[in-house]
Amino acid sequence: MQDLTQLMTYQPLSTLLAGRNILVTGAGDGIGRAAAISYAQHGATVILLGRTVSKLEAVYDEIESSGGPRPAIMPLDLAIASSQDYDHLAGEIAATIGPLHGLLNNAASLGEMKPLAQYSSETFEQIIKVNLVSNFLLSKALLPVLEQADDASIIFTSSGVGRKGRAYWGAYAVSKFGVEGLMQTWADELGDISNIRINSLNPGATRTAMRQQAYPAEAPTSNPEAQSIMGAYLFLMGPESLAINGRQLNAQPQ
Ligand code: NDP
Repeated sequence: MQDLTQLMTYQPLSTLLAGRNILVTGAGDGIGRAAAISYAQHGATVILLGRTVSKLEAVYDEIESSGGPRPAIMPLDLAIASSQDYDHLAGEIAATIGPLHGLLNNAASLGEMKPLAQYSSETFEQIIKVNLVSNFLLSKALLPVLEQADDASIIFTSSGVGRKGRAYWGAYAVSKFGVEGLMQTWADELGDISNIRINSLNPGATRTAMRQQAYPAEAPTSNPEAQSIMGAYLFLMGPESLAINGRQLNAQPQ
């Protein structure tokens, strides 16, 4: 895949991710759900992390019934998780699953859509914790398990408002700028000394509950479904992206 602006059209073999273990956060709904199912369809053993267990179980059932490798469920609420919780999770993955080849930091929360001058400090702190601090703590805890793999890929999920600020997007926009900074700093630190590649991915407007919450007046059908933007998600987890590190990518043409 030479042209990284056309990742939406990437269609790899169904064996692309055979033998790889990939953790997806926010795997119960929206883009995370589509990514978990798509990774399993391409041969990966997927670790489903999220806060609503019934949604994770539904994804588990869908993967199992379609003949994918048996996934694992790891419930965690990122709004209240501590660094000890992330360390515990990493230990459990090392003990029960083995090396980790991929981490998709996808879960996020929208928060309030209002001017910063009116934004509540509680919501601001919570959104930064869920959308940014969790990405740091989870990735940090999992580094040793990712280092055990021959090669590994971390994706941080960005947004258009994480690359150019926009009025009324509040802590969400700030958190996504933070995610980009986390990605760039870590990718630069690890680029020459590690088997781990780290990139950010902006999914672009996608038909999910979050999009509907942000744009209540928009017809949902005006945006693609999550499963149709999986090209970039697959590419970044597969062997063709081995040399891609520290890049800000887009799942849909801009
Ligand atoms: P959804 O709201 O559809 O899904 C978000 C997922 O994150 C859900 O599974 C949700 O769990 C989980 N989640 C939220 N808060 C927590 C928490 N505290 N602990 C654990 N899990 C949590 O959003 P999308 O699929 O649309 O978004 C996925 C990613 O893509 C996000 O990072 C978002 O910022 C980004 N994005 C999306 C765009 C779009 O147009 N959809 C555009 C640009 C970026 P639960 O189901 O239990 O609530």
